[in-house]
Formats: sequence, structure tokens, C-alpha cells
Amino acid sequence: MDIINKIGEMQARSEARRLAGEKIAFVPTMGFLHQGHMSLLKEGRNRGDDLILSIFVNPTQFAQGEDLDAYPKSIERDLGLAEKEGVDAVFLPDAAQMYGENYQTYVSLEKLPNYLCGISRPTHFRGVATVVTKLFNIVKPHVAIFGEKDFQQLAVIRQMVCDLNMDIDIIGGAIVREKDGLAMSSRNAYLSQVQRQSALCLFYSLQHARKLVKNGVNETEVIIQSTREIIESQPETCIDYLMMCDPVSLESKPMIQGPTLFALAVKVGNTRLIDNMILEP
Ligand code: AMP
Repeated sequence: MDIINKIGEMQARSEARRLAGEKIAFVPTMGFLHQGHMSLLKEGRNRGDDLILSIFVNPTQFAQGEDLDAYPKSIERDLGLAEKEGVDAVFLPDAAQMYGENYQTYVSLEKLPNYLCGISRPTHFRGVATVVTKLFNIVKPHVAIFGEKDFQQLAVIRQMVCDLNMDIDIIGGAIVREKDGLAMSSRNAYLSQVQRQSALCLFYSLQHARKLVKNGVNETEVIIQSTREIIESQPETCIDYLMMCDPVSLESKPMIQGPTLFALAVKVGNTRLIDNMILEP
């Protein structure tokens, strides 16, 4: 497995693979790998001849006061897991190289960032779209795999790739959960024992909503109210948003008609967790 720190070296390696007729599959991450990341790597292994993983905690997608400096790291462990999963190369740039002193170019979308996480994190998706564009130009993949756990991020990237005519297939990977239902996340490492128990309310809310829809409830406000109570009954929780929306435009929907995204963000202690599910009437 190649470990590459330099942008130019990564570009040269990918160019050579492309000239050799290989298909490059790419999984971008911020590291501290878990089974969610592994499932994306498995998908990539099946879809490409050359599988590239990037690990980069991207400063431009964190706002001041967020957890950039505290973000969990375990590079040695991550490299071991990557090797086991059959990764061919890991791209590990540093921030000074990605954003030089005179850096001034950003990619931002007009509409999708105005919903869900974009409301409490107004600069987040600009950072995501920018770093993903840069990583695409460096890794030169044919196909890139992103998790549905970050549903809005996946929507933003699909839209950006379409709008900017990037010749890259974007594949979504299903949410991987712990045995008790908590969506895997590097940030789960921040949770105390009590908070870890409270955090289950996100998954319970999704299940509860699915049950209501199955029983014929179709007013989204009724479902939201009822899940709000589940979350607020748990210690140390603070709701950022509970939204029922169109899975493509992310505009909120008053009624469940056709597939509807139920997305939620909840702070448990100081840790902001997100989860989502598509509800079908
Ligand atoms: P991150 O390292 O958190 O930036 O995530 C890197 C990629 O892994 C993103 O495409 C995430 O959506 C995806 N991912 C994170 N958690 C999960 C999960 N529990 N299941 C599936 N994909 C995930």
C-alpha cells in the first residue's frame, strides 16, 4: 500500500494508473476509521482496479468553535485497517499544502446548503464542496463513494458534479450502525456512557417515525412533534433540527407523499450527531 503525502506525487500516480487503463475508485474521509468507512472501501474495492483512501481533516468545513482541533485521530490504526481492506494508496496531505498562504478559491452551491445542517453550519458545505473538488483534481478518480449518513453532503456532491460537469460517478453507501442502532461516527468517541445511551434517541426517533407512517400518519408536523418528545426525554440532548423533506431538493414537506427524507441533528452533551432515513408512505 502506497502512503502519499505530496499532492504532485498523488497526481502523478493517478495519471500513470489512468494511462495504464485502470479504473480509480476513491473514498475521501477524515480518518478515525470505523465500519461505516470500511463499507465504503469495500464498495470501492468492487468498483475500481485501484482503490484510493484519503484522510484529511479539512479545516475549511469547520467553523470557529467547532471541533477541528479535538477531532479524533489514529493514523497508524487507520493505515492498518486500510491495508486489510485492500486499499492501494492512502493520500494524507497536510493543511498547509492543501491551503497555501495565498489560497482564495472556493466552491459554493446556491440552494442545497440553505437547508438542514447548512442552517446551523452556514460555511460547512462551502468547505466540503471545495475540498472534494480539490481531492478530485488530485486523486483523479473515475468513481467516488460517499456515505448516506451525511445525506446532505452526498446531495451537495452529486449536484456539484452535475453542475460542473465532473466526469466522476458518485455512489452512495448505506448507513452502517452499531448493534443497538446508533449510526457509526468518528464523533461517537466523544460520548460519555450516559450520553452514549441518550444518543440512541436518534435511531429510536427514525424507527418511531417509520412506524407512524406505516400506521397511516402522513402529516409531517405530527410525526416531528412526536419524535421531539422522544428526544427531549433523554438526558443531555438538545435538538438542532428535525426535518421531513424532499430527498432531492431538501425542501421541507408538509405531507408524506412519495419518498420523504427524515433528517435530524441532535447535540448530545457537546457532540453534534446526525442521522436520517427515507420514509415511504
Ligand atoms: P467522515 O470521515 O466522517 O468525513 O466520513 C467519510 C465518509 O464516510 C463520508 O462519505 C461519510 O458519509 C461516510 N460515513 C460516515 N459514517 C458512516 C456510516 N455510519 N455509514 C456509512 N457511511 C458513513
